[in-house]
Amino acid sequence: MVENVICTFCGSVCDDGQFDIEQFKSKKLCKLGSSKFSKKERIKAPMIDGKEVSYEKAIEKAAEILVNAKKPLLYGWASTVNEAIRLGVILTEKVRGIYDQCASVCHAPGTLAVIEEGLPGGSLGAIKNRADVVIFWGANPMEAHPRHGMRYSISAKGLLIKDRKQRKVIVVDVRPTKTAKLADDFIQIKPGYDYPIISALRAIISGNADVVPDEVGGVSKEKLMELAETMKNAKYGAILYGLGVTQSRGRDRNIENAVKLIQLLNRTTRWVIWPMRGHYNVVGAGEVPAWEAGYQYAIDFSRGYPRFSPAEFSAVEVLKRKDCDAALIIASDPAAHFPKAAVKHLKDIPVIQIDPFPNMTTLLANVVIPSAVAGLEAEGTAYRMDGIPLRVKKVVDSEYWSDEQILEKLLEKVEEFKG
Ligand code: SF4
Repeated sequence: MVENVICTFCGSVCDDGQFDIEQFKSKKLCKLGSSKFSKKERIKAPMIDGKEVSYEKAIEKAAEILVNAKKPLLYGWASTVNEAIRLGVILTEKVRGIYDQCASVCHAPGTLAVIEEGLPGGSLGAIKNRADVVIFWGANPMEAHPRHGMRYSISAKGLLIKDRKQRKVIVVDVRPTKTAKLADDFIQIKPGYDYPIISALRAIISGNADVVPDEVGGVSKEKLMELAETMKNAKYGAILYGLGVTQSRGRDRNIENAVKLIQLLNRTTRWVIWPMRGHYNVVGAGEVPAWEAGYQYAIDFSRGYPRFSPAEFSAVEVLKRKDCDAALIIASDPAAHFPKAAVKHLKDIPVIQIDPFPNMTTLLANVVIPSAVAGLEAEGTAYRMDGIPLRVKKVVDSEYWSDEQILEKLLEKVEEFKG
């Protein structure tokens, strides 16, 4: 039995898993994590146009596609390790392509808000040990991050917060969720009204309750006054937000407004705000290009230097306006999740896929390169959702190449072809 296995499914990156090598089975992980750490359908071998080939041949073909493209899109990255992402950023620069990652269709508005306002954040450890009030806003961890509540935020026992009774959990959402069932209070709001509700809370907390109408976004003034009071009286509070806030009306402005609310609360008490990131290393998919190029996503290297413009260079926009002539998709499935017009262009251009598992994108990829599962068959570094770096382990041997190995060889081939 291997102890302290690190789960590479969701952004909670639980580091207390166990793996029974003989039975090929994980223990302690939730259903989502256990399914990744099990014998499931894999891409069996590298392929070019559906025919099995060696890794070397597939990588050579992939390099040829990238070198011959005028502006390739290199997209995905949220479910691989930092070492592979680093090579991916260098590769994108070499082929003068566009680097974009999964956050551009989920938490990226939060990134824009952080550029404007900063982020009064704290680690999950601090939340577990100190938070007497936790608000999940537009987030449903019981479905998306099933062990988050038990390890850090709902029933987690910490140094100062010793049991569930000492922590008040509030869910703000547009509908009752599994997480709402565990909360002390559930506040149902009208879809798209996050911004005015946050503004109303700011008005109440700053002593201007008189400007707040009797009802805001489906929530009575009385209820908002009660919530504001709870927030002011918290010793250490945390707002943990999800896509319900970043992908509804207001998007980055919602997060900016929420950060301003936290700044206001921090004049008298201690509050943090943090996104509930989805894929296990989506934080790395933003942080690594930020070390290398200064930006987190939607980065265009076509002029030989990095340019950032989410409305122009995010993968969906680039594909919709047919502004790329090849794509490398790693650890992601845009064919299943992107809008129809974007997928249509993906079908019309040469596509290279690097992934351990088959998905909808495999069906339209010309070159398919299977990779080892990080955390199980390959090691590397990942950032947990709160930015804490963790070293994911290699637990079993495998014939599959790691993402890092594949990208290293691909980069070598591209350099050779470019001369
Ligand atoms: S909560 Fe997330 S990281 Fe933890 S075991 Fe489940 S899927 Fe894995």
